[in-house]
Amino acid sequence: MACRPAPEWELAAAAAKNILPLTSACNVRCVFCSHRQNPPGLEVFFLPHQSLVAIRERAAFLDRGKKIVIGESVTRILEGEPLLNPELLPILAWLRRRFRQTPIALTTNGTLLTPEVVAELAKVKPLEVTLSLNSASAEGRRLLMGDRRPEIALAAPRLLARAGIPFSGSIVALPQLVGWEDVERTVRFLAKAGAETVRIFLPGYTHLAPPELKFPDDLWDELRRRVASWQKEVSTPLLVEPPGLTDLKAEIRGVLPGTPAAAAGLRAGETIVRIAGKAVFSRVDAFWRLQAAGTVTVETEAEGKARAVQVTKMPGARSGLVFDYDLSPTAWEEFLRLLSRERPKQVVVATSELAAPLVRAAAFREDLPCSLTVLPVPSRFFGGNICCAGLLTVADFQAAIGATKADLFVLPGIAFDAQGRDLVGRPYAEAAPGRKVVLLDA
Ligand code: SF4
Repeated sequence: MACRPAPEWELAAAAAKNILPLTSACNVRCVFCSHRQNPPGLEVFFLPHQSLVAIRERAAFLDRGKKIVIGESVTRILEGEPLLNPELLPILAWLRRRFRQTPIALTTNGTLLTPEVVAELAKVKPLEVTLSLNSASAEGRRLLMGDRRPEIALAAPRLLARAGIPFSGSIVALPQLVGWEDVERTVRFLAKAGAETVRIFLPGYTHLAPPELKFPDDLWDELRRRVASWQKEVSTPLLVEPPGLTDLKAEIRGVLPGTPAAAAGLRAGETIVRIAGKAVFSRVDAFWRLQAAGTVTVETEAEGKARAVQVTKMPGARSGLVFDYDLSPTAWEEFLRLLSRERPKQVVVATSELAAPLVRAAAFREDLPCSLTVLPVPSRFFGGNICCAGLLTVADFQAAIGATKADLFVLPGIAFDAQGRDLVGRPYAEAAPGRKVVLLDA
């Protein structure tokens, strides 16, 4: 695996998406860490601890109207543990002075969330933490993550709750290693400690993963079944990743207590059909429009019954509704603009196996001016169960497109860097040589 220092253009491109990577260093060794099963040829970048000086320069690219994200993996920059950066606290304090009201989202493995650190984090609110706990037992943390001091992360949820820092829990579910009981116990532990949501991931594995990380496809169904049954007893919204969506119905996954949506009486399982009298395009549309709206009428349907409620809130304040992520309305609008600009007779959208049913669902509702083929593209490069758009390569697109004829090929922008190159450095135009290829950001 080629691993070079991250170039400034990659960091600037991340900052333009309000993502601030602070380091690639990590102090644990998760069995499911993607760094350990990447195929050769992958072009990834290593990031040494970033200084406050470097962050101040990059901050020019940040949008103060959007959440600043720290510690999330950015396609090509190896993720690390942000709390390892010795300048993290000065960086957060500076960001707070520069962007007074902008929420900061910090993802951490929890190993360094001591009482002293949590007290410092409380000074930079609005801050939300995603805690990658993975297991609520010391043995589980040791086994899954190689955490030598699991007691720190296990105490962190209560510390965060006491400090008034909203947090969500995340769990990479490996029942074949720790047992279903451990997964369930961890869900309940996070919910009881006050997590706003709990995300449960089935780990992606590539064809290079060790046998213990591989599992049959029906484990996804089993996880979804089990989570649905835990959800009956747990009020905290539980989200399975990937959610396996095939439609764009804006079904509410959960409602955060004490929020405008809870005060309005909205409930998990209801589908939002209209907001302020205008039809809802997707879950993402419902989430964004409710976030932007002030007091507004929301029409829902559940079990054949329709009702309308008023959600009372300030514009820009969160509604408290939790949805799975599906399709962005702005991406679809951009696609329609592309069609009216290019006027193709035949268009092919080549996208991930996860996104393909959602694109079909959007197209089904639309009277498109051309014929559309949606091509699900399997990941051959990574293999295993990898099925997200951000990990598709030019060779994957080529294999799926083959001799398919069309005037226009649309590929997901997330699979390419700011220079239009895939994860091994090939330009996107090579996906369909000699034909018109366009990238679209979701
Ligand atoms: S905490 Fe993240 S970066 Fe560190 S080993 Fe685990 S998965 Fe990899």
